[in-house]
Amino acid sequence: MATIAVIMAMRAEAGPLIDELGAARYGLNPSLPTQVFVAERSGDTIVIGVNGVDPEHQVDLVGTEPAVLTTMQVIEHWQPDVVITAGTAGGWSRSAAQIGDVFVAWPHVVRHDRRIGIEGFRDYGIGRHRVWTHSEELAHHLDARKGVVTTSNSLDESDTDREWILALDGEVKEMEGAAVAWVCGLRGTPFVGIKTITDLVDHPTPTAEQFLANLTTASTRLSEVLPMAIQWCAERVNAASY
Ligand code: SAH
Repeated sequence: MATIAVIMAMRAEAGPLIDELGAARYGLNPSLPTQVFVAERSGDTIVIGVNGVDPEHQVDLVGTEPAVLTTMQVIEHWQPDVVITAGTAGGWSRSAAQIGDVFVAWPHVVRHDRRIGIEGFRDYGIGRHRVWTHSEELAHHLDARKGVVTTSNSLDESDTDREWILALDGEVKEMEGAAVAWVCGLRGTPFVGIKTITDLVDHPTPTAEQFLANLTTASTRLSEVLPMAIQWCAERVNAASY
């Protein structure tokens, strides 16, 4: 039977999914902030890894480093068949995104803030991590949009970020996807990105304000769509192993 892992940054994003699946807390490594929850569904195992809370600043551990830590531990312990990076993200009205829209990462995730203008390092910086080949069908199944997810460690968008995002065809802006994808790539684990839009980057209202106003709506939307996505991925894996 399949093991599907979902990696999330914020407790507010993960809470509705944990409740929906009735997932139980799993004590993995008490010395690290990572929080893990496990549920069984029709014989499949669902592991939810949440980055946890920063011990010094008492805020959710958003960003790439905690995402690597969570993904690595979950892959090491459970060897999941598929890893899904799930959470909220920014979109653009220029690509007709609306608050609450669901996007599936396709065909890759990139980084727009690792600008290393040295031969060879430029492409490493951008990353262009491929998503699971079945992601396109998954988007169709979920009636979701597809687009390039672009990651950085900042919530805002500088002028240089804007140029890079346009050049990279970024349609979904967040802070963890490429980090999760990088670890999956190292371990050969199929990677899927599912993001719901909390804010429009090109809207006059400041991003942080939009984000806080729409976090609950977007997290609820995630908890509706993720169980369907998990089940679809598990069925794909189970069908392939017969
Ligand atoms: N201001 C928030 C901080 C959350 S940081 C707070 O007070 O709690 C934003 C989180 O949501 C990250 O995990 C990131 O992946 C996602 N996110 C949503 N919209 C984003 C955007 N426009 N740019 C970057 N990350 C975004």
